[in-house]
Amino acid sequence: MRTTEQREQHRCYMKVYRQRYPERVKATKAKWMKRHPGYKSPAQIAWNKSHPHNNDKARYGGLRSTVLQRDQFTCQVCGMTDKDHRLQFGRSITVDHKQGGGRYAEVKQHSMGNLWTLCLRCHGRKDGKLSWSKVKGKGA
Ligand SMILES: [Zn+2]
Repeated sequence: MRTTEQREQHRCYMKVYRQRYPERVKATKAKWMKRHPGYKSPAQIAWNKSHPHNNDKARYGGLRSTVLQRDQFTCQVCGMTDKDHRLQFGRSITVDHKQGGGRYAEVKQHSMGNLWTLCLRCHGRKDGKLSWSKVKGKGA
């Protein structure tokens, strides 16, 4: 069993070691990765989840692209197209949960009936109203 002091010493030693021999650290890591294929650190998993290309399953039950195709990549409120959206906001058009707050909801309601395509402006207007009514204590 190591004492706290020893552990601290080792930590300092490793810090210097990593700075002095970055290629050795890299080689060790590569070797370790070979023995543990497909390993992802919790930070990597969190990053992948947060990335818009990978959060489809978590946030839309894997229905995002289906919804976009059904709505022909067009905002269902104002009719803005995905192309215009990219030009104006620099990102693809969004998919919204009609009922339940989507990202912040505890129970996600992923269904074709509950998902629709919205542009950022209409999305913001809708969710803004929602949070406003919550602030006022009137419920969603
Ligand atoms: Zn719109």
